[in-house]
Amino acid sequence: MPRQGIDTAEKLRPYVEEFGPDVFSTNGESLMCDVCRKSVKATEKYFLQQHVRGSRHLARLNSRNLSPRENPFNMDVGRMLVESNIPPYKLQHPSFRGFMEKYCGKVLPDHTTLRKTYLKKVYDETLLKIRASVGEHRIWVSIDETTDVKGRFVVNTVVGCLSAQHQSRAFLTEFVERTNHSTVAQALVNSLNLLWPEGLRNDKVLLLVTYAAAYMKKAGDALKVLFPKMTHVTCVIHAMHRVCEEIRVLFPAVDNLIANVKKNFLKAPFRVQNFRLLMNIGLPPQPVLTRWGTWLAAALYYAENFEAVRSVVSMLEGAEAASIRRSQEIMDDSTLSSDLAFIGSNFAQFPNFMTKLECSSLPLSSSLNILEEFRVCLPVACKSMVPPGATIEFAAPSNSCLRSSGGQANTSALEVFKNRV
Ligand SMILES: [Zn+2]
Repeated sequence: MPRQGIDTAEKLRPYVEEFGPDVFSTNGESLMCDVCRKSVKATEKYFLQQHVRGSRHLARLNSRNLSPRENPFNMDVGRMLVESNIPPYKLQHPSFRGFMEKYCGKVLPDHTTLRKTYLKKVYDETLLKIRASVGEHRIWVSIDETTDVKGRFVVNTVVGCLSAQHQSRAFLTEFVERTNHSTVAQALVNSLNLLWPEGLRNDKVLLLVTYAAAYMKKAGDALKVLFPKMTHVTCVIHAMHRVCEEIRVLFPAVDNLIANVKKNFLKAPFRVQNFRLLMNIGLPPQPVLTRWGTWLAAALYYAENFEAVRSVVSMLEGAEAASIRRSQEIMDDSTLSSDLAFIGSNFAQFPNFMTKLECSSLPLSSSLNILEEFRVCLPVACKSMVPPGATIEFAAPSNSCLRSSGGQANTSALEVFKNRV
């Protein structure tokens, strides 16, 4: 059957060219993977794509790229440390080395050797894995900025596939000189260039999720020019955090109480011990303003345990610290208990909403339901605190919670979802 032979050879040759002659070769009848040294099913291009994304193929490819001076064991140690999040300097610990020598009969490489020779290869391997897992899928991207231990600005990008069957998350990191809309947008483009080194796939980016800072919104607007199919959604939990911040501003007495009582028990083990002896409740929480929702959780703690905390604080010696005197004065304020009762009866659900939404594996339907519950809860809580004729910042959800374009996207997503279900 000469005709069929020619057809097969013609079909296989483009695959060799596409994936590279160092990966696949053909004898005219079948396709061989030169990395795995076995023949590969080549009836569809999809089978080949699946093969080159496979973990065995990638591991063999990486071992093949080692030079004769490089040791596969060291490569595996580097990969193991990176994947299990163990810092390479831990290799220097005598008991780590001793354990490996005693039970595995292997001498561990020095951590500087790993850094100089092997970590770059592990990095390349990880990038290959990310590219393979993203493949031809459409993606969502999320960016956030932070600072590292040296105070440098770092922009972290998380990339995931938009696919019901395919769950994936990959991290790409970029250092920037300072954070503003242009550096953030540039960092995102750089990260996507790492993902698609052969050229940006502008139509594959469908969703951008960021928090609701003004420069992130500006960056999102600028990026829409480059990625026309992209929808920019701002973080709902950040919007809820803003609402919590408004509550904090509106109840200065409660804010003072939380700040001062926190100081009374900070680095004061004797007072902490006394509190535990006297009361069968947890210590007053110590909210961190950058951790969203913790201030409101602290206010709710006082709403529930105000009298108990007050009885302990009144027993403390005012001469010991200014914060004790200040706490005792604040606790005598007659409006404080009514403020706490108000917060307790109107905002008790808010920290729950935030905690639930922070869960990473929440289905879209559940997230949207929580958002809807929040949207129903908020005006009810606000109505009771607005005097007739007056308005406050978050009286209408459209003001504070959903004022960004992301907010509109969130609500439209909710409507789209409802119409489809
Ligand atoms: Zn292979």
